[in-house]
Amino acid sequence: MAAAEPAGAAPLWSATRFMLGAARAGQFPLDEGFEVAVAGRSNAGKSSALNVLTGRRSLARVSKTPGRTRELNFFELEAGRRLVDLPGYGYARVPDTVKQAWQRLMTDYFHSRGSLRGVAVVMDCRHPLTDYDQQMLQWCGRSGLPVHVLLTKADKLSRGAGLAALHQVRGRMGHLYRGGVTVQLFSARKGEGVEEARAVLGGWLGYQSDRKKKAPV
Ligand code: GDP
Repeated sequence: MAAAEPAGAAPLWSATRFMLGAARAGQFPLDEGFEVAVAGRSNAGKSSALNVLTGRRSLARVSKTPGRTRELNFFELEAGRRLVDLPGYGYARVPDTVKQAWQRLMTDYFHSRGSLRGVAVVMDCRHPLTDYDQQMLQWCGRSGLPVHVLLTKADKLSRGAGLAALHQVRGRMGHLYRGGVTVQLFSARKGEGVEEARAVLGGWLGYQSDRKKKAPV
């Protein structure tokens, strides 16, 4: 499907609204325009990151409501610009049937989405590169997608320890992932790294970089 024309203006993150939750491929919205997926093991801080990135405090709460936690939740900044909240949970704790259903849904998603431009993988900076993260990287790699790692909860580490974690994950990602990869520190609590993340995700969504200007939220 043809991509939409790049939007000239900076993204209006605060306009992001919930579109729909999909439990199977037939429920995905039309595959057109630009789409960015946000993945993360449960409790990594994905909802908090989405809320801060969009400036909408309760946006990702919808993904946590009963019945939606195993769905792909689609959000729209405007027509043809979507963020997709991928379901995340601790891998070891789920029964095999649930794990298989999740893998099928993810495989369908990664194989079918021509509009998918990149994946932000949220990792707790103190526990990066879990099994979940590595599985996610495999899917991204097979689809040739760029990956941007948000090392969240950076406020839980001292500056020096945070930079050491950043350096270590950059090094490990260089070995683990052959596609384009960037890594940054992020704190939803302190607002650290928000503009850096918006610049990457906004670029994937077809917006011009707004880092030099003051971005509207
Ligand atoms: P999700 O399950 O990945 O969506 O994770 P949540 O966003 O719900 O966050 C899980 C827990 O981590 C919650 O208790 C959050 O308050 C906390 N948390 C999330 N982001 C941060 C952060 O940047 N700093 C700190 N200190 N805690 C955070």
